[in-house]
Amino acid sequence: MNAASEILMKQELSKEDIVSLLSLTNKEDHDTLIKKAYSIKESCVGKKDYVRGLIEFSNQCKKNCLYCGIRAGNTKVNRYSIPDEEILQVIEFAQKNKFTGIVLQSGEQNNIDFTKRITELIIKIKKATTPEFRITLSLGEQSFETYKEWFDAGAQRYLLRIEASDEELYKKIHPDNELHNYKTRLECLENTKRAGYQTGTGVMIGLPFQTIENLADDLLFIKKMNIDMVGMGPYLEHADTPLYKYKAMLLPLTERFNLSLRMIAVLRIMMPYINIAATTALQSIMPMGRERGLKAGANVLMPNLTPGKYRKSYLLYENKPCIDEEADECLDCLSHRVKMVGEEIAYDEFGDSKHFIKRKNN
Ligand code: SF4
Repeated sequence: MNAASEILMKQELSKEDIVSLLSLTNKEDHDTLIKKAYSIKESCVGKKDYVRGLIEFSNQCKKNCLYCGIRAGNTKVNRYSIPDEEILQVIEFAQKNKFTGIVLQSGEQNNIDFTKRITELIIKIKKATTPEFRITLSLGEQSFETYKEWFDAGAQRYLLRIEASDEELYKKIHPDNELHNYKTRLECLENTKRAGYQTGTGVMIGLPFQTIENLADDLLFIKKMNIDMVGMGPYLEHADTPLYKYKAMLLPLTERFNLSLRMIAVLRIMMPYINIAATTALQSIMPMGRERGLKAGANVLMPNLTPGKYRKSYLLYENKPCIDEEADECLDCLSHRVKMVGEEIAYDEFGDSKHFIKRKNN
C-alpha cells in the first residue's frame, strides 16, 4: 500500500492528511489520489460534464488586485463594455448550441447605473430564454441589496473567488486599502448565500508566499463555508502587474499544474457533490489541461463565448488560450477533447450543484 492509499482510507481528512496529499510528488501516489477522486466523481456526480458559456462583457474595473492583468492601474489595457444587444446575440448562440446557462463576468464596478444595467440585462435574458436557462454572475463585491436585486431579477448563481483564504496572504496579493478588504470579501460571500444564490468561490494555486498549509486551509475554508461550486487553478503571472516581481519565487509551471490537479482531487474527495470547474488556467499550461482537470474530479467547463474581438483585452494572466477564436470554434474543439478522455458534455442538463440541492432540502 502506498502513502496515498493509506490516507485515502480515512473517513474524514484532517489538515495534516490534506497537507500530505497535496505534497505527494511520487507519480504512483499522485495517480492513486487522482484515480480515487475520479471514482468519487463517477459515483456522485457522474461522467457527464456541465458546460456554461462565459461572457466577459466588460474589463472596466475599479480595483487593483496585484496579480490581475486588467487591474485599474494597468493603462496598457483597452477598456470595453459589450453592448446588451451583442450579449443577447451571444446568448441566442448559446441556446441554439444547447447550452443551458451562461456566466456573465466583468471587472468590479459598483454604482447605481451598473446595478440597474445588470438588473435590466438579466430581465432581458430571462425574456429571451427558457425558464430553466441559468444565469451565473461573476461581478465582484456588491451590497447585499444589489445581490438580492439581481437574484430577484432571475440570476441563480454567483461566483466570488476568495483567491486566498489566509488573511495574511490575501493582504500580500492585494493593495492595503479599504477597497481590497479581506473581511468585506468574506461578508460578500456570506451575502450571496443569504440572497439565495448557489455560491461559488475559488483560489489561486502556486502564488508567491503561499505554503502547502495555506492551500490545505483553503480547502478546509471551502468546506466550512459550505460552498456549492468551486473554480480554482494555477496562478499565472502577468508582466504588467506588481506581483510579477516575485516571479523567481514561483514553482515551475508543471509543478503548479500537478498541484492544481491534486487540489481538485482532494476537494472532490472532501465535497463529493459540489460542482468543480476545470479552469482555463489549466489549459494555459497544458493543451489538455482542462480535460486532465475533469479526470481529477472536476465536472464543469466554461468555454469562452466572448466575441473574439474583445478577448485580447480580457487577459487576467498571460498566455490565455483561445483568444484568437470565435465561440463556434471553441465549442467544436471542446466536445472532441471531452470525448478523448472518455466523458461527454451534458448539453441538455441544467447542471445545478447537487450540493446546493441537498443544502436547500435540509
Ligand atoms: S481580479 Fe477582478 S476585481 Fe481584481 S483587478 Fe482583476 S478584474 Fe478587478
